[in-house]
Amino acid sequence: MKCNTVMEWLPHYIEGLVTPEAEREMTQHIVACPDCARWLEEARAMEEIWKEADSASDFQPLSGIPDLVPQVMAEIERLEAVRQSDGAGPAASRRRSARRTSWVHYGLAACLTFVLLQYGVFEQLGYGLTEINGHMSNSVTALFGTQGTR
Ligand SMILES: [Zn+2]
Repeated sequence: MKCNTVMEWLPHYIEGLVTPEAEREMTQHIVACPDCARWLEEARAMEEIWKEADSASDFQPLSGIPDLVPQVMAEIERLEAVRQSDGAGPAASRRRSARRTSWVHYGLAACLTFVLLQYGVFEQLGYGLTEINGHMSNSVTALFGTQGTR
């Protein structure tokens, strides 16, 4: 079994939704593969956070969410770096594509919001959607503004 397959099935594996054969294969792989073992560990930790958010009615609104934002921003930054190295154009053309790029960022932020919404996180936490959208947009703008002046 390949790492890609293991990672793809990891969520189902954690929830016990894979067939016994698949579960055995995955367990064998994870035991032998430090990378996938780490993935499993992280995925289980995430699972705990979601479960906690699901069950605890007195869940503290600010635990869990803020940790996600820097990670996502780092990911956006990484994607942006990849995109820029792909283009490798002169600074002028990079500036011209600025508007389009910022929409990519907003799109990513919207995707994140959607994913979190699917988990029911916002409803659980009573966290305003507009609030986090505003926060993401500000972060995105700040990130993009820094790059624009470079
Ligand atoms: Zn692996």
